[in-house]
Amino acid sequence: MKPIVLLADQVLTLDAAATVYAPGAVTIEGVEIRAVGPPPERPDGKIVDLRGSIVLPGLVNTHTHSPMWVFRGLTEDVSRGEWLTGRLLPLERRLGPDDLRRAAMAGCLELLQNGVTTIADRYGHMDAVARAVDDSGLRAVVGHSLFDRTADADLAMSERLIERFGIDPARSRVWAGLAPHATDTCGPDLLRRVRGLAERSGARVFIHVAQSEEEVAAMVARGAAGCASYLDGLGLLGPDVVAAHATYLSDAEAELVGSRGTAVAHCPSSNAKLEGRVAPIARMRRAGAIVGLGTDAACCNNGMDMFEEMKVAALLNKVAADDPAAFPAIDVLRMATSEAARALGIDHLVGSLEPGKRADIIAVRTRSPRLQPWHDPVANLVYAARGSDVTTVFVEGRQLVRKGRPVFLDPERILAHAAPAARRLADVRR
Ligand SMILES: [Zn+2]
Repeated sequence: MKPIVLLADQVLTLDAAATVYAPGAVTIEGVEIRAVGPPPERPDGKIVDLRGSIVLPGLVNTHTHSPMWVFRGLTEDVSRGEWLTGRLLPLERRLGPDDLRRAAMAGCLELLQNGVTTIADRYGHMDAVARAVDDSGLRAVVGHSLFDRTADADLAMSERLIERFGIDPARSRVWAGLAPHATDTCGPDLLRRVRGLAERSGARVFIHVAQSEEEVAAMVARGAAGCASYLDGLGLLGPDVVAAHATYLSDAEAELVGSRGTAVAHCPSSNAKLEGRVAPIARMRRAGAIVGLGTDAACCNNGMDMFEEMKVAALLNKVAADDPAAFPAIDVLRMATSEAARALGIDHLVGSLEPGKRADIIAVRTRSPRLQPWHDPVANLVYAARGSDVTTVFVEGRQLVRKGRPVFLDPERILAHAAPAARRLADVRR
């Protein structure tokens, strides 16, 4: 196949030195990036003219639930502790695997159009959901949620996902992870089985941690100091574990998470909306945690837009630190690209634009009133850009979005397919 040469006003590589080429070019060959640098004098390949745009790595969303797209607008402004059992569970009970597959496709479409190229996705009925995720063209790690009450069936489903997709992101664009639901819904027996399966298969572990005060109280009732100590006692903190939220942690517990080199999926909009809290990210990061941003679900956010998530992360963490110099824009941009890729264990493949890495690339149109003047690309991307500014998306060298429109997916058809599931929820009490 002929190489593809992207020509843009700027190429922001987010390599270790955060090299910028202006103007710049990225040459794609097959699934990989062959060259990054100034535009070649005689480009060899098909030219994609992205003048008027900046090119950067595709965004990596470290925590989401694509099928929960269908719950947007149904769990608004509720008190702490009421969201999950009072609002979400009654909604979830109404939908079957086919509804979830269709809703997941709509969620994936939203993510793609917002410039997200990799997701860590987890939910129930993951065999059906993963089909949609795979069909969307996104890069994804998929995990079936595991609970005590359905442990045997959930573990069997997890093994089936591992059989089907494998656990190696270098071999498969979609791969499987293990996804115990949370510390309070997964007792020590189940978590020991998860650790055993992780050792045998090599799969990474994805778990919700310290999302609510009730979850912490349940850990204290089990005799642990908190959610992190509980997981640590079961060998479930460390670089192969992605802890989502990590909101309600004492200083000592935050330091424990960091000292083990645990990956943390930071979902600031979700934490603010559902709990009115900011997770102690600065403390975990200083202690050694790898932090990636996540949008969480569409009903916790209420949009799966990593540009918005970057801005919210920067602002809330500045407020939490009582320091406007904290969380500089470049750190936040890395939490959506290179550091997020590290959190998912895929930084050898994506997260920066470098020869030999996979061609997961996006372009943002800069010639709009909102994004001019263009003095500082990093600040503009973090504080001013929106997902709707993304015009171009490549995953594994395949162009999935062109001029802001999907190339292979049909938005009208996808929304029509998902509409019956949304209608089944229309009479639910808000
Ligand atoms: Zn979640």
